[in-house]
Amino acid sequence: MLVDSHTHLLRLKVEPEEAMREAAEAGVGAVVNVGTDVEDSRRGAEIAAVVPNVYSSVGIHPHNAGTYTASDLEALAELSESPGVVALGEVGLDYYRGDWSGEIQRALFEDAISLANDTRLPLIIHSRQAFADTMAALGRARVPVVLHCFEGGDREVREVRERGYYVGLAGNVTYEGSETARVLRLMDADRILVETDAPYLSPQPMRGKENAPKNVVYTAAFVAERLGLDDEEVATLTTRNARNFYGLPLEV
Ligand SMILES: [Zn+2]
Repeated sequence: MLVDSHTHLLRLKVEPEEAMREAAEAGVGAVVNVGTDVEDSRRGAEIAAVVPNVYSSVGIHPHNAGTYTASDLEALAELSESPGVVALGEVGLDYYRGDWSGEIQRALFEDAISLANDTRLPLIIHSRQAFADTMAALGRARVPVVLHCFEGGDREVREVRERGYYVGLAGNVTYEGSETARVLRLMDADRILVETDAPYLSPQPMRGKENAPKNVVYTAAFVAERLGLDDEEVATLTTRNARNFYGLPLEV
């Protein structure tokens, strides 16, 4: 069984129940739906409370940093107590898109790290072209951290490994020329998660189509091949890692 450790069920064209049915058929037994603003987090928490095998996170994506207010943080704190909410995120820094200044993004990120420390929820991090600032801010985090949709080479892998952070590998690792694909063997195997980030970043055989949680099987198969493991071993490894990181009630 696989876990899609980072997905956006509310952005799919199909209903969450249908996406979960298709996922189960493909051997994907659980997903973590990731919140990107307060409303999205609220709806995610609602789904996690009623749809089996869906867990959820609450967060404000750096793309939405500009609309953030203190009352949003209170709303996230409240939602974090909802059943099925297992993490805080996605939060972080995105200097690639640059919709909002670094200053605005960092203020939200700092508050989110404090909230994670208070609630003891693990942190799901979105970091794009902001590795150094992300790592600097995370120095204060006292909870487990995953760098979702990880893109990095030697140096980044070494730093992440030193900190004991998890890495979330998404479909882009399967694309030709991926630097991250070359350094998979340098990663701590006990810190590797697989994810889809659906509806985005469809893995190679599905590239160009809308992504869905069921497609995490392709990314897992790619990782297995690169690590010299069979599919079953990678499923056990990454599911156990997801269980450990999110504290999911799974038997692995
Ligand atoms: Zn995401």
